[in-house]
Amino acid sequence: MKNFTWSPRALGLMAVLVFTVLGLATLGAGQGGGGGRGAAPAQGGAAGRAGGGGGRAGAPANPDDWRVDATRGPVDLGLTDLSLIGAIDVHQHLDPDAPGAGGQVRALDGFEAAIMAKQRGMRGIVFKTHQDPTSAAVAYLVRKHAVPGFEMFGRMASNYSTGGINVAAVEHFSQIKGGWGRIVEMPTRDSITGARDMSPASLTQNRPWMLLMPPGTPPYIATSKDGQLTPEVKYLIGVMAKVRTVDSNGHLVLATGHATPEEHLLLATEARKQGLQVLLTHPGDIPQLPEVTKLGAFIELNASGIYKTDAGSKAAADLVRKVGAEHIIVGTDCGQTVNVYPTDCLVLAARGMRAHGVTQRELDMMYKANPAKLLGLPPLEELGPTATITANRP
Ligand SMILES: [Zn+2]
Repeated sequence: MKNFTWSPRALGLMAVLVFTVLGLATLGAGQGGGGGRGAAPAQGGAAGRAGGGGGRAGAPANPDDWRVDATRGPVDLGLTDLSLIGAIDVHQHLDPDAPGAGGQVRALDGFEAAIMAKQRGMRGIVFKTHQDPTSAAVAYLVRKHAVPGFEMFGRMASNYSTGGINVAAVEHFSQIKGGWGRIVEMPTRDSITGARDMSPASLTQNRPWMLLMPPGTPPYIATSKDGQLTPEVKYLIGVMAKVRTVDSNGHLVLATGHATPEEHLLLATEARKQGLQVLLTHPGDIPQLPEVTKLGAFIELNASGIYKTDAGSKAAADLVRKVGAEHIIVGTDCGQTVNVYPTDCLVLAARGMRAHGVTQRELDMMYKANPAKLLGLPPLEELGPTATITANRP
C-alpha cells in the first residue's frame, strides 16, 4: 500500500478547504440571529455591499444614483418607502439560476434577496425560475436557515427544460419540501412569442438549448391551437386545481407566461373556471384587460419597466386608472445585474407612479393586498399588532 505524503499541492488544497469551512461557519453565525426583526446582512454578498444609501431615504430619486453598470451590477441604494412595508414582490430573478435571455446574469441569490427584503420591511418575495423548480427548494432553505417567517415562494415556468406542459413536473414542484412552490407559469422563453426570431444569432443569445435539440423539435411550446387551449393545457389546469402543496397545503396559482393577448384571456378564463388564482404575466395594455379583470384574474405590472423613465411611470399610472388598482399586482422582474436591486426598484416605481397621481391606497393594494390574496395569505391587517412588520431603517 502506497504511503500518503503531504505534497505542497495537497497542503495547499487543505488550506483552501479549511478557509472555506471557516468562511461558511462565519456566514452561518452571521445569519443565525436573523429570525427576529430582520437578518444580518450577508458579508461579502450582494446584501453586504449596501452603500451609504440609507441616509438618502425619502429623498427624490436622482437617476444618476441608480444608473446601473451591468458589468459591476447594482449597489444597494437603501431607499425606503411606505409601500415596501408588508409588500410581496411576485417576480424576482435570483441565483442559483442559469443566465437569462441575452445572457443576463443574476445580481444576487435567494438568500441575499430575502435578507435585503426583510430588512426593508417587506413581507415576502417570489423567486421566479424560467427553467427548473429550484425556486421552491431555495424558498424552503431561506425560510429554514436565513429568514424564518419571511414569505418566500417559488415560481416555475413550463419551458423545454421542465418538459413543456408537464403534469409530472408541476406535481414535483408542489411536493418539494415545505410546499413553497406555488406559482406555475405557462411557457415563457419557449413560448410562441419567444420563438419569433429563430435565427442562429438570436438562439445563441436567448435560447441556446434550441441549437442542441433534436431535428424536428417544434420551435415553441404551444398552449393554444385554432383559438382554443390545447387539451394538454386544459388537463394541466385541472390537475393544478386539485393539487395541494406538501407540508403547507397551499393552492397552486397559474401565471399565463409570455402568451399572446388571446392566450392570456383563454388561460385566465379556463383557470378561473377551475377555481385557480390567476396572474397575467406582464401582458401590457392589451384590449383583453377589461374581460380579464371581470374574471377576477390579476394583471402583473413590472416595476422594472416603470422606474427608469417618466414615460414608464406615466404609462403605469394610466393603466392603474384604466383597470383599477384592485386588479393589478406590481412585481419587479428585477434581480439581474442590469437593474437596481428589487427593493430599490419597488421604491423608485412607487415614487414614479405617485408623481402621476397614484395614491398610497392604490400602491398598498398593488404591492401588498393583492399579492397576499394571489398567494392565499391572510391580509396584513389580520396578522394583528404583534405581527406588525417593521422596517429596520427609518
Ligand atoms: Zn422576468
